[in-house]
Amino acid sequence: MTSPNLVLLHAPSIYDFRQETVLYGPLGDFVLPPFALDRYPLTYGALAGHLEQNGYRVRIVNLARHMLADPGFDAEGTIASLEPLAFGIDLHWLAHVQGALAVAQIVKTFHPDTPVVLMGQAATHYHRELMNYPQVDYVLRGDSTENALLSLMQSMSQGQMPGQIPSLTWSTREGQVMENPMAPPSESLDDLDFSGEWRGTDSSVEDGWPGCVPFARQTHAPFSVSAMARGCTHHCTHCGTSAHAARQLNGRSTPAYRSPERLAEDLYDAQHHRDGAAYVAGDITQNGMDYARRFIRALGEFPDLVCFDLFQPAPRELLDDVARALPQVALEIPMDSHDPHIREAIGRPYSNSAVEKTIEDALSLGYAQVRLYFTIGLPCQDYDSVMDTVAYCDELLTGFNGDGRLQPFVAPLMPFLDPGSLAFEEPEQTGYRLLFRTLEEHRRALLTPSWKHALNYETVWMSRDDIARAAYDSTGALAQIRAKHGFVPAGQARKVQESVVQAHRLMAEIDQVMALDDTERLQDTLSALKPRIDAANRAGLWNQRLSTWRQDDIRRSTVDDRPALSSVRRAWLVVREWWQGRSDHQVS
Ligand code: SF4
Repeated sequence: MTSPNLVLLHAPSIYDFRQETVLYGPLGDFVLPPFALDRYPLTYGALAGHLEQNGYRVRIVNLARHMLADPGFDAEGTIASLEPLAFGIDLHWLAHVQGALAVAQIVKTFHPDTPVVLMGQAATHYHRELMNYPQVDYVLRGDSTENALLSLMQSMSQGQMPGQIPSLTWSTREGQVMENPMAPPSESLDDLDFSGEWRGTDSSVEDGWPGCVPFARQTHAPFSVSAMARGCTHHCTHCGTSAHAARQLNGRSTPAYRSPERLAEDLYDAQHHRDGAAYVAGDITQNGMDYARRFIRALGEFPDLVCFDLFQPAPRELLDDVARALPQVALEIPMDSHDPHIREAIGRPYSNSAVEKTIEDALSLGYAQVRLYFTIGLPCQDYDSVMDTVAYCDELLTGFNGDGRLQPFVAPLMPFLDPGSLAFEEPEQTGYRLLFRTLEEHRRALLTPSWKHALNYETVWMSRDDIARAAYDSTGALAQIRAKHGFVPAGQARKVQESVVQAHRLMAEIDQVMALDDTERLQDTLSALKPRIDAANRAGLWNQRLSTWRQDDIRRSTVDDRPALSSVRRAWLVVREWWQGRSDHQVS
């Protein structure tokens, strides 16, 4: 096996989640973004691509994915077996702070002289505090670190001091923390090679190393993710990708885009390596309708399912263009609340009728699926409002005659408000109470026995208890609604409801245990609860099957229903479905 120069590790949120006694709740199977536990950030693909273009061998090792997929996976042995010049670890989502620091410590145990570099959004926010941890040598700040990482690798190869490397936080031999000036953020994403995202890296492929798969479920429901932009034009209060956060953390005043043609190339390139659905992260209408139309034109007749985000309602003409160009297309719409005032409070001021029109247009144009995401833990939102959102989902489904392509989801903001977001930086002005400030507080919070206690916020309208109650009750109610509209069998909805009751009880018991003064008794009682906690974690209340795209399911449900399909394309889909069914049969 050829030794890589740089190993990029992706840690699980909690190390080692297989051993800890923690009720993960929605963090275990449904979080927004939906990959926070085992998905590595898109920047890993660009970093790997950039370094390989410049002669370095890079390997991405997704420890979280391996640990999820294989309960016996030896993460420490794997780290011990690697001998790179440096290790990189992403700390993009703050939810990874415990895992990232634990993995950095393991690296130092086996490789005390090998530098460890942390990077990502949360690392950028906490770069100075990170330098207090002896397992961290460097922090790269900002969202455009490709050149800085290359310079750091060159300086490490040549044994030079890193004083000239932009965006780097580091310590002198005397222990003085140095903060090099930030490099300006990239203005365009066209020079980046994201292919490390879907092909791993050359070295991974040659060695047959499987660690580069972006997340555990990839092997069962493959899809690729392509990055359209860095930054966003919107100002959603709770979002770490918002315009406010991008300015705060990365010095970015405007998003950087991949050109529509390059983005389309990415999808084809990904499809070449991984047959499956493609997800475009970011709203293609955000950079104007001309951008969206150029992208659709460049995509041509892309054969697999393509899923788009829509951050706001879109005109029917555009949806029509998309439907005509692509045989299978799906939408993800973060609607957040049924109440337009709440949406206005978070920075998405559009009406319900506007988004309902978009849904209607998409369904009538034959879209394979429209997913609506609703959020718990927003300004101006209380428990009753969350349950009203669930009632709205029922009304919406009734209005669309129980069309199974319309899929609503409700889940809390968790576990943390994003650093850099308005809610995190100015909680009082936005209706939040921030419960943890430091990195160490967040790290410890992740090890508390229930997800409710890990939340780093409450709102003026909901305590953490209210948020947890709303999360479970809305999940139970939504399961009943799914059954009512025939999406799931009634028995399955009953099971969800039973799991909700169990989860409520378990959470109350954990609360009692946490109130114990006697640490030994606390640990013993918690250990006794572990089998039930593990069972609750496995229940998949937020339905992990739905947090990824199952192209085969979608294809089967829509292949006969699409009014806009040409007969040639319909025939092609039927042949393709038959062929895939035959392949599935052969595999099994
Ligand atoms: S639309 Fe809002 S939630 Fe989505 S990326 Fe932009 S700022 Fe974040």
